[in-house]
Amino acid sequence: MSRTVFARAFAILGLAAGPLFGTVAAADTLVVYSARNEQLIKPIFDAYTKETGVEIKFTTGDAAVLIERLAAEGRNSPADILLTVDAGELWNATERGLLRPVHSRTLLRNIPGHLRDPQHHWFGFSQRARTIVYSPARVDAKLLSTYEALAEPQWKGRLCLRTSKKVYNQSLVATMIAAHGEKKTEQVVRGWVANLATDVFANDTQLLEAIAAGQCDVGIVNTYYYGRIVKERPDFPVKVFWANQGAGGTHVNISGAGVTKNSRNAVAAIRFLEWLSSGKAQLHFAAVNMEYPANPVAPLDPIVASWGKFKASPINVAEAGRLQPAAVRLMDRAGYR
Ligand code: FE
Repeated sequence: MSRTVFARAFAILGLAAGPLFGTVAAADTLVVYSARNEQLIKPIFDAYTKETGVEIKFTTGDAAVLIERLAAEGRNSPADILLTVDAGELWNATERGLLRPVHSRTLLRNIPGHLRDPQHHWFGFSQRARTIVYSPARVDAKLLSTYEALAEPQWKGRLCLRTSKKVYNQSLVATMIAAHGEKKTEQVVRGWVANLATDVFANDTQLLEAIAAGQCDVGIVNTYYYGRIVKERPDFPVKVFWANQGAGGTHVNISGAGVTKNSRNAVAAIRFLEWLSSGKAQLHFAAVNMEYPANPVAPLDPIVASWGKFKASPINVAEAGRLQPAAVRLMDRAGYR
C-alpha cells in the first residue's frame, strides 16, 4: 500500500470511527497546536500528564500559521486541539471547518456563555482584559471614562496606541462595531488617530514604557503586560483604569481552545479541555500570565486582584471574529496604521 493510500485509509477510518476510536484506544498522547507561548502552556501540560498519565505533545506558533497548517494537513493532521490567544482566530478556524462541536456539560457549566462559541466549537479558558492605562502624575483619573472618550480633543497629543495590525486591537474595534455600528466606531477611531502622541507601537510593553517615560499620558493595553512589569517594578509610574464601567463594560478577549475536526482522540481531547476548565487548572492557566480565569470560581493572582474588580463587556467574544474583517477595513479607512 502506498503511503498516500495508507494515510487516506487511516484517515477515513479515523473519521468514520471518530470519538468512539478515542474511547477504545484511550489515547495516552494528545497533540496541541498552540498560539500560546511554550512558557505559558508547558507547566499546564506537565501538570495534566502528572495527574492523568496522558502525554501532551505541542507545537507553538502564530495562530494564522497553525490554522493554515491544520487546513493543509486535513485528515492527516496529528493535531487534536487548537489553542489560541484570541477569539477571532478560533472563529476563523471554525468558519473554515477545522474544529468540531463539543457537547460537554462540564464545559457549559464551567465556562460562562459569552466566553465560548454559541455552537460549542471552542471555549475560553482565560480572559484577557484590554483596558485604559494612564500616568497618575499627568492624568486625573476622574477625567477617564471610556475607550470612546479617548477620541475627545482633550487627549490631543497625549494618546499612545499599539498597531492596528495586532489582532487584540482588531477584536476591540470589532466589539465596538457590535455595540455602536460602523459609523460611530469610525468617528472614534479617527479621533484616536488625531490624538496620537507618536507612531503606533509594535507591542503593549513598549506602549507602557512610553507612558512611564512621559512620551504620552494614556493608552490601551492588555493588563497582563502591565502585570509583568509591576511584578518586577512595583513603583512603575503607570496605573490601570477600568474602561466603560458605566458604558457596556471593559473589553475582554480570551485564550481558548477547540477540538480539531479530524482529531482521532476527541474523547481524550474533550477530557483535557474539561480539566482545563476546572478550578485548580484555571488558577494556573490564568495566573501564569497574570490573566483572569474564565471559570468564575477560580481565584485571582494577588497582583491581578490588586487592580480591583471590574465589569466586563457581556458581548460574546465570537463577535470579535465575525466583525474582524469589518474592523480591519474600518481602521484602514480611518488612517490607523
Ligand atoms: Fe499578548
